Amino acid sequence: MTTNTPVASLRVTAPEVQEAYDTQALQQLDSAHYLHPFTDHAALRERGARVIVRAEDVYLWDSDGKKIIDGMAGLWCVNAGYGRASIADAVHAQLLQLPFYNSFFNTTNVPAVKLAALLAQLSPPQFQHVFFTGSGSEANDTIVRMVRRYWQLAGKPGREVIISRRNAYHGSTMAGASLGGMPGMHAQGGLPIPGIDHIGQPNYAEEGRGMSEAEFGLHAAGWLEEKILEVGPDRVAAFIGEPVQGAGGVIIPPATYWPEIQRICDKYDILLVSDEVICGFGRLGTWFGCQLMGFEPDLIAFAKGVTSGYVPLGGVLVGSRVAHTLIEKGGDFNHGFTYSGHPAACAAALENIRILQAEHLVERVALETGPHLKARFASLVAHPLVGHAETCGLAAGLNLVRRKGQTAHDCEAFPSTHAVGMLCRKHMFDNGVIMRAVGDRMIVAPPLSISVARIDEMVERIRYCLDLTLEEVVARGWMA
Ligand code: PMP
Repeated sequence: MTTNTPVASLRVTAPEVQEAYDTQALQQLDSAHYLHPFTDHAALRERGARVIVRAEDVYLWDSDGKKIIDGMAGLWCVNAGYGRASIADAVHAQLLQLPFYNSFFNTTNVPAVKLAALLAQLSPPQFQHVFFTGSGSEANDTIVRMVRRYWQLAGKPGREVIISRRNAYHGSTMAGASLGGMPGMHAQGGLPIPGIDHIGQPNYAEEGRGMSEAEFGLHAAGWLEEKILEVGPDRVAAFIGEPVQGAGGVIIPPATYWPEIQRICDKYDILLVSDEVICGFGRLGTWFGCQLMGFEPDLIAFAKGVTSGYVPLGGVLVGSRVAHTLIEKGGDFNHGFTYSGHPAACAAALENIRILQAEHLVERVALETGPHLKARFASLVAHPLVGHAETCGLAAGLNLVRRKGQTAHDCEAFPSTHAVGMLCRKHMFDNGVIMRAVGDRMIVAPPLSISVARIDEMVERIRYCLDLTLEEVVARGWMA
């Protein structure tokens, strides 16, 4: 039943880390003092954290010298790949010249000005202004305040409700987590905050039974119109969505979805917000995901890929409609962060974007690496554990299933208590490839700098680990 062939080249041995680390001591200190994000600390203490000490190209090394292909580009962010000395040099030079100055009180700095102008040039034409933040969550918090401020200034202060989607991820601050549609986050800390509502996600594999993809796209967009009518059109301020849902499991909407969302927003005069924290800066093979999906948002949230994660930076691209009102009628916008427009972060972004352009990394996703990943992921569907697999640019997901069917809708899922995705993720980690598990959906989003040969290497490792997972699942008597 298994296609398990232990290939010598897949064994991970490379002891390429020069410095010796005392992994156990680091793990003890880690669990004694470091509270990690989204982590069960009792479980972490049992296992000990994996200590990552070095990275180059698409590879990471841990403190025991193990070499791992980073299928998640850090956390969807290292778009230019690891080991870019020129980004480090740009940050170093900027830190020596001007490590920090704020952008409050009528001051600015050179890298922030240059980056704002460059982003205006790179993004769709309606975007001529940018508001900088330190992260994607702060970008979405900014959007909540900016959207509500816009409607105050436009003379419609009753328009306060922002509609988002279940299983969306928009960050971890109070507003970001409220916009997000993750029940586990809402359950902790009294969320969502008032004035945020959710509709269903355009997940064809889970919810499109009995419809063509095109029909389902229109149907799922229709939930927005229903919600607008339920809330009352004169109370709705904006709709926010990720062009492709990332943390929710690489949920790729049908092509009919976003144009219909745009039509509905236009019909009710509602602001359209694209959260491009993952999709921005080339992930889908276009600079921004809205360009691939065919819609024209009023606001774009970005972070991650803008600096390839070398230094934290986020922001909001502000379209002409909102920018004009804020600037011409707004007076003070009482909002901002100490690190808005941080000079070193902006210097990192400028050099990162230069690399993305010089190496045509975005075009390569569209024409070369994205199509190659698509073909290689399609080949994994032959595996007995894989029900269906989808890719968009360099984001991909596959579902582990108990019984395969002819279509995604005929497959039988494992009971969630088996946590097969987590089992599979452990095999991946142990065998030198990072894939993330969202339930039983396994996802990747490698650096955009990945070569075709490295995609092949990554997919072969994934196949090998699927074999190991299958063996374990069969041994436990879990296959149908
Ligand atoms: N929006 C989206 C779509 C994201 O994927 C994320 C992070 N994964 C965020 C917002 C939040 O970004 P940050 O973690 O930088 O606050």
